[in-house]
Amino acid sequence: MSTGQGYSITTYRFRLQCGHPEWLMRTQELYDRIVKFYYDLLLAHEELWEQNSQETLRSLEFLSLPGKEKRRPQTPFPWEDVPPYFRRAAINGGIAAAKSYLSRKRAVDHSDESTREGLYTDPINNSSDAGPDKKPHFVPRAELPAAEINSAAVYYSRMYRDFSPEHITLRVWDGEKWNWLGCRLSGREFPPEARVLSPSVVSEGSFLMLHVPVREPVEDTAPVKKRMREGGNICGVQFTNGDAFAAASICDAEGNETAVKFFNGGVEYSHHCRKVLEKISRSMDALGDFPEGPANRKYWMHLKHLREHYAHQVSREIVRFCEQNRASIIVLPKYNNDYVWKVMKGSGNWSPLHLSFRIRSYLRYKAWQSGIIVIESYAGGASTVCARCGQPLAERDGKAKEFVCRMGHRGNWYLNTARNLAVNCRKQFRERELG
Ligand SMILES: [Zn+2]
Repeated sequence: MSTGQGYSITTYRFRLQCGHPEWLMRTQELYDRIVKFYYDLLLAHEELWEQNSQETLRSLEFLSLPGKEKRRPQTPFPWEDVPPYFRRAAINGGIAAAKSYLSRKRAVDHSDESTREGLYTDPINNSSDAGPDKKPHFVPRAELPAAEINSAAVYYSRMYRDFSPEHITLRVWDGEKWNWLGCRLSGREFPPEARVLSPSVVSEGSFLMLHVPVREPVEDTAPVKKRMREGGNICGVQFTNGDAFAAASICDAEGNETAVKFFNGGVEYSHHCRKVLEKISRSMDALGDFPEGPANRKYWMHLKHLREHYAHQVSREIVRFCEQNRASIIVLPKYNNDYVWKVMKGSGNWSPLHLSFRIRSYLRYKAWQSGIIVIESYAGGASTVCARCGQPLAERDGKAKEFVCRMGHRGNWYLNTARNLAVNCRKQFRERELG
């Protein structure tokens, strides 16, 4: 990307209350059916698969609608009186679902027998929602098209009006006709420069939420190279599974460390999660309910909120630390999928290390909003040599997370990795510039 104005998109969540929540449900059901109709239609027309989304939308409309010329379409759209903007949002939903299916199918088709055994969907994305039904799952050998698709109905312009952080009026289907439904909202204000994009209604447990993507301009998008040349500081971050969610080290233009910090709260986080998990297990015993049964819904929501809260807090603190120390680049360790999978399994769903996947994704957009670039670098070597002398680590005390190198330097193992990430990033750039 060239220097200049960029943007970031953040989803704002509002609690939504209205007199007819059932209308929102009916609207969602209708939306789901239309999405599925176009999903199936696209999968049935292989000649459209290579088209871009805009062309696909036009082709699907051509196949299903009479158009101005009042043609008889090949596969007529089976519903009457559906507002065009509602239909269009659903077509785009169907296209997105079909394209995602096709790319997963291609991945499965192309992988050889041995990797097929262990192929799993992206654990980072799969960990995005609490609840037993959202665990990372294996892609079946022969991926089949979805029997039903549930994606939150998106309200394009003309499907809503009078929109503010306190209120929105939505155009909804009550089962017989379309109505305007006034809804109260509670959530935070939109930033002044932001552009508000099409909202969607999402049910989260017993609550209805309005999710609103908000596009904000980002002033500083100078690429990494320029940052380096200008001598901006680099912040290396390593995630841990102890009381510190992460350790960070700032490296200046000369390669010297100017600040370090541990972002604590991991023990507290695991403790809170454990308490809620105990409640789930007690309620299972008392009610004979399944862990994922309705009685436990509120606990799963609680876990989800805990996760959100800590991930937001830690990512915010890391960005603040970078701002205070004039770091314009954050380097995170990059791992291969096998490693990620092992760590996810080994550390448990509610561990600080597991939360690091979410912290990373929040860090990415929060940093971006503050004009800080996040890059990833393979961590392999960074965790096995001493950041002071480059000698291999001679001893590692797993419990205390301490190391001793061959030269006798001691220190925190995670902080050592964070230091290496920052220093290596600086070094690699210099070598590339000289070479
Ligand atoms: Zn050393």
